[in-house]
Amino acid sequence: MNILDDSIVPEHARAIKSDAREFANEYIMPSAAEYYDSGEYPWDILEAGYEAGLVAGDIPEEYGGRGLDLPQLLALSEELYRADAGIALTLQLASFGCEITYEYGSEEQCEEYIRPVAAGEQISGLAVSEPETGSDLAGMQTRADKDGDEYVLNGEKYWIGNGVEADWITVYARTGDDEDNRYGNHSLFIVPTDVDGYEAEHIPEKMAMRASKQAHITFEDCRIPEENLIGYEGAGFMMLADFFNHGRVIVSGHSLGMAAAAIEETWEFTHGRKEFGRTINEFQAVQHGLADMVTEFESARALAWRACEKVHTDENAGYWAAMTKTKATEAAVEIAQQGMQFHGGRSVLTDRRICRVFRDTRIPVIYEGTNEVQRNLIYRQVP
Ligand SMILES: Cc1cc2nc3c(=O)[nH]c(=O)nc-3n(C[C@H](O)[C@H](O)[C@H](O)COP(=O)(O)OP(=O)(O)OC[C@H]3O[C@@H](n4cnc5c(N)ncnc54)[C@H](O)[C@@H]3O)c2cc1C
Repeated sequence: MNILDDSIVPEHARAIKSDAREFANEYIMPSAAEYYDSGEYPWDILEAGYEAGLVAGDIPEEYGGRGLDLPQLLALSEELYRADAGIALTLQLASFGCEITYEYGSEEQCEEYIRPVAAGEQISGLAVSEPETGSDLAGMQTRADKDGDEYVLNGEKYWIGNGVEADWITVYARTGDDEDNRYGNHSLFIVPTDVDGYEAEHIPEKMAMRASKQAHITFEDCRIPEENLIGYEGAGFMMLADFFNHGRVIVSGHSLGMAAAAIEETWEFTHGRKEFGRTINEFQAVQHGLADMVTEFESARALAWRACEKVHTDENAGYWAAMTKTKATEAAVEIAQQGMQFHGGRSVLTDRRICRVFRDTRIPVIYEGTNEVQRNLIYRQVP
């Protein structure tokens, strides 16, 4: 079965989709269980991904990237996450946050920080969430105070992908305290991870996406030059909102990939497993469950590609991004849950693909803004 077919994907995004599938089948799929077990960082697959041109491909060509657009990134995401979400997240996070610098930063910042990521010499990350604040973007407490021609960072970040592994991180920090302008109090900075006062350690082990690593970062009088401010002071919230609109479309691709994996796995299992002298797919109850799985998948995927177009052309982008993120991530949870049920007792064997996918689907309903927050955004932006 090929549930993740091409027909809904715009023509210009089909080549990258096909390259991604070939790469995923050769490098990701065979290693997925092993990396899940070990919880190690898949450096070898990251390197192979760079060589195949599938990592940091969003970076514009003028800085050495491929300049992949949003439909191409969605197509890529569907294929890589179908193979394994943990490894796919590591490949994606290698350039996480770079978009903010190449969209709003200076030429010098792009040359110094973006070009090495495109070349595979460095990796990045984006630090927004904090131990005491997650959903409330305007409530983040990490500070960046101006001192002469430097900014001094103090505070903590939590859940930060590549916080330990990255060469530099885009950090969201408070530069103002105006209660009447909550959305103008934060700014974004480029922070090299070898700067004095930057400490990072891995957070405790996760039950899902174990091949990707998140960190707890502390900043203690961490000094960075003022040239590391991205855009202008107070623009952090606005830049993040724009970044998340693109990110949420890509996250819907994470979940569609996982949902496709759950469907494939369950289809194969139900057509092979025998009870009462026949394969279980012959029972109407199982057929209806499978029918619901594919129907839910197609609905979520149709919305994702419509939202992708809307966000790409910037038509009420926040509304469509939140809607597809919510629909696709919840569809994947439901589809994987049904897949588990049809696997019977074997569903809980940790070496089963369905079991891994089921656990992985629990993550995208949380990251890039929880689905409760997405519903707030959808409601507020109904046209
Ligand atoms: C695997 C993983 C990777 C991540 N990677 C990164 C990363 O690279 N960089 C980064 O900055 N962050 C990252 N995150 C953090 C992620 O973005 C946050 O976990 C998420 O924003 C939620 O924040 P929280 O966990 O603090 O939950 P909270 O904000 O404390 O939410 C707890 C519950 O309260 C609900 N809630 C909160 N506010 C509202 C509201 N206004 N209305 C309705 N319900 C509400 C939430 O929906 C949720 O159900 C990652 C998280 C995970 C799990």
